[in-house]
Amino acid sequence: MDKLPNSGNRHTVEALQQELQSVRAQLLDLLSEARQNQEILNRHQSLDLQLIGSHSFRELIQHIFVTLADICELDQVTLCLVNTQHNLQEMLADLKIDRDEFPFLLFAESEADLRINGQPLKKPVLGHYDQTLHGDMFQVCFEAPTSMAIIPLIRQSKLLGSLNLGSEDPLRFSVDMATDFVERLASIIAICLENVINSERLTQIGLTDALTNVSNRRHVEHRILEEIGRARRQHYGIACMYLDIDFFKNINDQHGHQGGDDVLREVAKRIKAELRLSDTIGRFGGEEFVVLLVNTTHRNAVLVAERIRNSIASKPFLLHQSGACDVTISIGMATLSDDHNLGEIESAAKALLLRADRALYEAKEQGRNCVRESAG
Ligand code: GH3
Ligand code: MG
Ligand code: MG
Repeated sequence: MDKLPNSGNRHTVEALQQELQSVRAQLLDLLSEARQNQEILNRHQSLDLQLIGSHSFRELIQHIFVTLADICELDQVTLCLVNTQHNLQEMLADLKIDRDEFPFLLFAESEADLRINGQPLKKPVLGHYDQTLHGDMFQVCFEAPTSMAIIPLIRQSKLLGSLNLGSEDPLRFSVDMATDFVERLASIIAICLENVINSERLTQIGLTDALTNVSNRRHVEHRILEEIGRARRQHYGIACMYLDIDFFKNINDQHGHQGGDDVLREVAKRIKAELRLSDTIGRFGGEEFVVLLVNTTHRNAVLVAERIRNSIASKPFLLHQSGACDVTISIGMATLSDDHNLGEIESAAKALLLRADRALYEAKEQGRNCVRESAG
């Protein structure tokens, strides 16, 4: 008879113990979920800090394409930037950023060109990836995502571009998903983009010659030091050219200062057209330019110098107000091969410029419109 209550007690204790165990298990699950959430939060905070801490455009896009993709476990992250008047392309050239280096950096010609299914991009578009609708926003050379989010990057009511996130997981982004997280990420990226682009532009203004838009003397002098150092480390040759417009005083006299300025701009443009992205061109003084060819041989440098001379002499310059004018330049050239790249970098740079300047003097002496090389 007294077994019943005992057995009842035992059952109650067992039931309580089971309940306790299940509550404990639930608590452990919650704890582990909380830990995971904390970890995700920490990783996102670290992403925010890395994005905000980017000092240059290059650093920022690297964080977007690599760090963000990694932290958010995405299979493709692209950035499509509105490139009105090709300003950004010019900036990339100034920063010596080759487009091939960043295949996930895409451009739209204008805000109006940034459309999804014919609609202007005003709000995030999430869901299934469709090549015909979303293909322009992703890099088709790589594996296409299965689900995607296209989020506008807006700053002061201006559309800067879009941040495009792609995943192989079909459930990662869906039409009915909350967009507050991606919108927050996009607003941080929009602010960072605006900041680095403005700061790169300001730096560029300080390094650029206002008339011709090529580097100024200070920048070229700095670049020569950098490039001599790099040539030493990577064991290649560099070449320096001093270029001076022939009888420029006469051009000014005949076509006025405005005409002379037109000639300076066009000379800079024609020289630039013969160079690679990694080379440097700068205006050194009135009608004098300096060009620095990197990773070059003596033979190649002579060819480039001759090409520059010819591109100026072979076609008359059309001036804005005073008709056409024939222009020639003289070029002095000096090369620095790997086995002669010795001593203090500053002295090596000075010596290289001096040799090119002396060769220019010879070119002037020997009739102008020609290239002369420094003997040693
Ligand atoms: P050479 O063939 O020996 O080089 O003769 P040159 O006439 O080119 O050389 P010179 O040094 O006698 O004259 C350079 C002229 O460049 C004189 C100066 O007025 C002009 N100049 C310098 N800076 C500018 C500028 O920013 N714009 C214009 N239009 N002219 C400039
Ligand atoms: Mg001169
Ligand atoms: Mg001159």
